[in-house]
Amino acid sequence: MVGSQDTETTGASTSSACCGRDPTPMRAVVWQGGTVVAAADVPAPAPEPGWALVKPAYVGLCGTDLHICRGEHPRAKPGLVIGHEVVGRLLHATGDLQAGSPVFVNPLLSCGTCRACRRGRSHICENLRLIGIDVGGGATELLAAPADHLVALPASLDLRAAALIEPLAVALRAVRRSEMHVGDRAHVVGAGPIGLLVASCARLAGAVTVTLSEPVPRRAEAAAALGFDMVDTEGQDRCADVVFDCTGHPSVSPKVLGWAAAGGSVVTVGAYPGVVGVNLQEVMFRELKMIGTRVYTPDDVAAAVTLAQGGIDVSRFVTAVLPLEDGGLAIARIQAGSELKVLLEGPAAA
Ligand SMILES: [Zn+2]
Ligand SMILES: [Zn+2]
Repeated sequence: MVGSQDTETTGASTSSACCGRDPTPMRAVVWQGGTVVAAADVPAPAPEPGWALVKPAYVGLCGTDLHICRGEHPRAKPGLVIGHEVVGRLLHATGDLQAGSPVFVNPLLSCGTCRACRRGRSHICENLRLIGIDVGGGATELLAAPADHLVALPASLDLRAAALIEPLAVALRAVRRSEMHVGDRAHVVGAGPIGLLVASCARLAGAVTVTLSEPVPRRAEAAAALGFDMVDTEGQDRCADVVFDCTGHPSVSPKVLGWAAAGGSVVTVGAYPGVVGVNLQEVMFRELKMIGTRVYTPDDVAAAVTLAQGGIDVSRFVTAVLPLEDGGLAIARIQAGSELKVLLEGPAAA
């Protein structure tokens, strides 16, 4: 039962004297409301039946965390411990896994009863909630998560690389959803970590060309330095069979269909803030396909775990690793646009 945690002021589950747990507070990165995010004391978690405790090793931060910490996320409540991209080590033996086993925490909490869940598509559950958005996240010393949401990782997998499994699963699903074929031309709008991971997956999936565009010069330079083929979207009309929009930025939506060739697809990967303009006449005249993609299925996660072991060198996208105490600084550095992937280091870090 995760519902009770949703209303906690800290977003983390509480301990209590009655259950005999150690009430010692622990450190966590807490969004305190407005634009205030900083390390703070929170109560140690008291897991419910069926939940396990994980010592976080690395926690990736992304645009969703930025939205939360700017007070723009519609579901996050002040007092939330952030962090939905979590890998760590089990505190106690759980199921087949021994204490200390490395695990990825699948943060999706689905209701199990809505139509999407009943049809086996729990990742688009109508009541989907996430660890680190709707309930306390992993930017802390100890995280409680449902035991059946823990994915065992091979001991040989570097946990810093494993911290990219969550965004890699997002990217992998976007390319799977696109139904891109070998020999197709792919164009990715937005060269943040998701854009770069989508481009990497598109290349693996057989795209004959993979181009990217990025309006922030520093990011464009960083992507070019990593070997990605950057283009200016001016004059790029009809440049791709599949266009991946990884921006969610209202300046992109009026133009994004124009970059798709006749019969092509446009995949919405980035989360738009609300209603934006697209020219549906283009969709009709040129038989374009508009495809949505949201988070990932357990199979996408399994494939991402495999890819993170060498199919894609994900660790090269990490540009900063900071301690939990610097959580506020980490958010500020992402906001400044000077970083690709920023990780926070938890107590189980190597
Ligand atoms: Zn994320
Ligand atoms: Zn559901």
